[in-house]
Amino acid sequence: MAASASPAEWLDAFCWRCGSAEVVPSRDGRLLCGPCRHDLFDSTGSGETPLGAVRRLYWEAHALERCWRCMDRSVDPNDDLGLCSTCR
Ligand SMILES: [Zn+2]
Ligand SMILES: [Zn+2]
Repeated sequence: MAASASPAEWLDAFCWRCGSAEVVPSRDGRLLCGPCRHDLFDSTGSGETPLGAVRRLYWEAHALERCWRCMDRSVDPNDDLGLCSTCR
């Protein structure tokens, strides 16, 4: 069924860095295999898992939008504590 791959589909089915078909799906939309994702996102060598790195990147992008304590109320963009007025 999915045996044939056009050039356009190739970009959607293989790691864009090394061409491996062993891509790991992720919410950031990047198609990367496990080793390439590890190389790109775990350069700190902290032993963080690929999933952990993606989660960390997600939170770095969104952490200030919601209170990290109640995970519910929005936070003033100027509040560097990242807490809503109720949790402070
Ligand atoms: Zn790769
Ligand atoms: Zn809160």
